[in-house]
Amino acid sequence: MSPQSPTNKNIPEAPISIVENISSEVINHVITQPILDWFAHAGRKNLPWQQDKTPYRVWISEIMLQQTQVTTVIPYYQRFMTSFPTVVDLANAEQDEVLHHWTGLGYYARARNLHKAAQMVRDQHGGDFPTEFEQVLALPGIGRSTAGAVLSLSLNQPHAILDGNVKRVLARYFGVAGWPGNKKVEDRLWQFAIANTPADAAGYYSQAMMDMGATMCTRSRPKCGLCPIASGCFARENEKQSEFPGKKPKKTLPEKSVNLLIYKEGNKVLLQQRPPTGIWGGLWGFVEADDKQLEELAIPKQENEIPGFRHTFSHFHLDIAPWVIEVDEAHLASVSEIYDSPQMWYDLKEPAEVGLSAPTKNIILQLSLQATDASK
Ligand code: SF4
Repeated sequence: MSPQSPTNKNIPEAPISIVENISSEVINHVITQPILDWFAHAGRKNLPWQQDKTPYRVWISEIMLQQTQVTTVIPYYQRFMTSFPTVVDLANAEQDEVLHHWTGLGYYARARNLHKAAQMVRDQHGGDFPTEFEQVLALPGIGRSTAGAVLSLSLNQPHAILDGNVKRVLARYFGVAGWPGNKKVEDRLWQFAIANTPADAAGYYSQAMMDMGATMCTRSRPKCGLCPIASGCFARENEKQSEFPGKKPKKTLPEKSVNLLIYKEGNKVLLQQRPPTGIWGGLWGFVEADDKQLEELAIPKQENEIPGFRHTFSHFHLDIAPWVIEVDEAHLASVSEIYDSPQMWYDLKEPAEVGLSAPTKNIILQLSLQATDASK
């Protein structure tokens, strides 16, 4: 079943609420119809995952779109769907191949969870993506909002969503103060999300709300003058758009540092695969060394130095110092022996299709540019 068209014919004037026992001050469907009407003429309808909608295709897009802009996601999504057209194709792929398709998107736990979830679908659901909310929610990497999005967008099931875009629209319109990461604030936003989701057009409404947040009620400079729900919007009426949603309480991120040893012979560099869990789990990167190990190596002055840089995670800053160590061909094996497997001599000119962490990719890009300059 595909979502119904957002016409007045299909949307009852007072759609039935999909939830019971909601707080009495939450008025149902205040914003539903104006948003559906706006979506009918202004919403995005040609995104790749909006064509041939299936739970599998929508799921991949939803995971890619977490923390990542639509324009960045599109080429990744297209390559991913070409390589893994079905959930079973994804389940049967090597993890390296999946991570390779994710290289550059960041937040690699998303890719590892996708792979794990696809294997669960293959092994526990006979290769058919589940269509029951609880079963979808039980898959790794899928929370309440994503489960709702997958089932509402692909099958028009009556589930509400509450992603970052929707939180922003609801927080501003209804004046919900506080940081949405706070459980009480989030619960309140869920109440409004559920109360405004129409039972019979949840697919269109979910898409419309995502578009509202992405194109109209944007983080900075929302287009309130064009907004279909401007009348009645708490933030606009009080000129407090920038105060909603509330900011995360600030804390200073701890700083860590790491030395990366770039063993290099001609166009080849030594990479190690990281353990399957933890930061950059399963991805390939350079050998790490602490300051004492670095001192023992007594690395000579760098000719083609790769400048140090900072990579910031959500919970700490990592200052990265790359050290290039030229190796001659006769010593490749003896260098390999020092370090644990899995490892590979990665060819800069003929790159292997493996997942790389963002700093590794950054350094490889610089080494490739140096190699190109040197061959001119
Ligand atoms: S009026 Fe402005 S702040 Fe309010 S929902 Fe619309 S775009 Fe967002």
